[in-house]
Amino acid sequence: MISIAKAFSSSYAQARVKFLEAAATAGINVQSHAHPLKGRDGEDLAMDVARDGPMNAPNLLIISSACHGAEGFCGSGVQVHALHDADWLEKARASGTAVLYIHALNPYGFSHLRRTTHENVDLNRNFQDFNQSLPDNAAYRALHSLILPEQWPPDAANQAATLAFIAKNGEAAYQSAITQGQHEFADGLFYGGKSPTWSNQTLRGVLRQHTASAKRIGWIDLHTGLGPSGHGERIWAGGDDSTAIERARAWWGGGPARRRSARHAGLRNAGHARCGLRRPRRTRLHCLVAHPCGHCQTTQRA
Ligand SMILES: [Zn+2]
Repeated sequence: MISIAKAFSSSYAQARVKFLEAAATAGINVQSHAHPLKGRDGEDLAMDVARDGPMNAPNLLIISSACHGAEGFCGSGVQVHALHDADWLEKARASGTAVLYIHALNPYGFSHLRRTTHENVDLNRNFQDFNQSLPDNAAYRALHSLILPEQWPPDAANQAATLAFIAKNGEAAYQSAITQGQHEFADGLFYGGKSPTWSNQTLRGVLRQHTASAKRIGWIDLHTGLGPSGHGERIWAGGDDSTAIERARAWWGGGPARRRSARHAGLRNAGHARCGLRRPRRTRLHCLVAHPCGHCQTTQRA
């Protein structure tokens, strides 16, 4: 066991070293999937995968970090601390549950302190079927030039037009228009891309390899940006399945694992990373929770 503070890092490079050291301390091998680009300090980038438990374990818990790049500081710290926690490791092993730690779904964003991938894609909007027509977001189209004006700060006309949009459509519609994702403006916000990103393709490969034998899968995807500072807020991300939601709440000691609120409603078909999990028919996804921890210095959305 290490102190909580020691599990956290001030850069991706440091976080990766701590993760690799923690996995080695726990006696767990790491598969590293090299990213084609370098990090902010010239370091190598990778999606690192550590599996504790046999490949044929019927129960699998996935714990992933850095879907949204810079949010990985929190998720990495949680993973590192867990790997140094002998009691936790022993309990998981004794229960017959394999645990799959995926460090840095989006290592480029983590290192470069960006939410997006190197393709400027929001990874949680990128898991679409690109053989089909992509979702249209007319409301974002109307707002794009207001959100990203030619000059900064925005001028009075820009601010008036933005306020007029909100007055006409409501604040929830304004937020949803932006956060639900869009596939039209490659330089825009919450861009979902026009093809699978490196992180998308790599994660799908990891999931294919590690979930094939699992009968029951839980997935905790660690984010930051919602809820009070220092508080871990649970958001159910697995669809409208009341039985599964109650099961998730039971996992958390009866505490709330809330459904997506109105501000997340637009994410329903947004191309969430969970869509990368293609399961055999008899496999049950028991719990899928995006777990954003409150952070006082960010307004990013899970
Ligand atoms: Zn996030």
